[in-house]
Amino acid sequence: MKVVETIADLRTARSELKGQVGVVPTMGYLHAGHMSLVAAAREANDSVVATIFVNPTQFGEGEDLASYPRDVPRDLNMLREAGVDLVFVPSPGLMYPPGYQTYVSVEQVTRRLEGAHRPGHFRGVTTVVAKLFNVTLPDRAYFGQKDAQQVVVIKRMVRDLNFPLTVIVCPIVREPDGLALSSRNVYLSDEEREAATALSRAWRAAGEAYESGERDPDVLRQTAHNMLTQEVLVDVDYVSLADVESLEEVHHPVENPVLLSMTARVGKPRLLDNCLLPLSLNNRADLTQILGG
Ligand code: AMP
Repeated sequence: MKVVETIADLRTARSELKGQVGVVPTMGYLHAGHMSLVAAAREANDSVVATIFVNPTQFGEGEDLASYPRDVPRDLNMLREAGVDLVFVPSPGLMYPPGYQTYVSVEQVTRRLEGAHRPGHFRGVTTVVAKLFNVTLPDRAYFGQKDAQQVVVIKRMVRDLNFPLTVIVCPIVREPDGLALSSRNVYLSDEEREAATALSRAWRAAGEAYESGERDPDVLRQTAHNMLTQEVLVDVDYVSLADVESLEEVHHPVENPVLLSMTARVGKPRLLDNCLLPLSLNNRADLTQILGG
């Protein structure tokens, strides 16, 4: 496995890779969720590139950029064991040198949900992902359903800017008690860790209501919301039931596949979780076609 830190080294190493290339962009501090993307990339491509970069432009003021957990040596061991061919670990100064002033901005779909709560977040995400695509030149790029809006935004960018690659969406990897794996889970105290299961309980409750025939979007949102507010340590930001492509809130009886997503602060971290309705759409091989259209 080659590890490179400059654009020149990356371009050279990339040109030596054989066949179809899959890329897995990450912010490091890897867990089984990241590794599931690597495994999917390994299976479908001749070569796999991973990137590790805690991207400063996607963090807002007062967010956890400085304290975001990092352990690159451990990450590299995990990637080596998973059979990754090339890892790009750039510095912030390499990605955003003095005088840097070019950004990629996706419009409507970034204004809702996380975009409404984290101004500028997706502008940072799309900018860095566009840069990573331009240097790693992948045939396929792997993203997790965990960050569902990110998938929708990146798919939009790939279509709108004609990136010659396919975005592949991978299912959410969870702890046995349902908590979605996240690098930020390390911030949770024991008590908060327990309370954090409310997020998966919330979408499950709404999902079960849906499976029993409930189609009123307000009732479905409220079902999830009630589950979250039962936990005093959980501070809800939003619960959304939205179209899987436009991310517009659904205000009529649910007919098509929809995305039920929520964000809540539990102690220090903001945690995200989501599911597609009907529940049978989650964990399916054609997830890629559903989320983001
Ligand atoms: P991050 O390092 O948090 O930027 O995540 C890198 C990629 O891993 C993103 O595409 C995430 O959606 C994905 N990811 C993070 N957590 C999970 C998880 N629990 N299951 C599946 N994918 C995940």
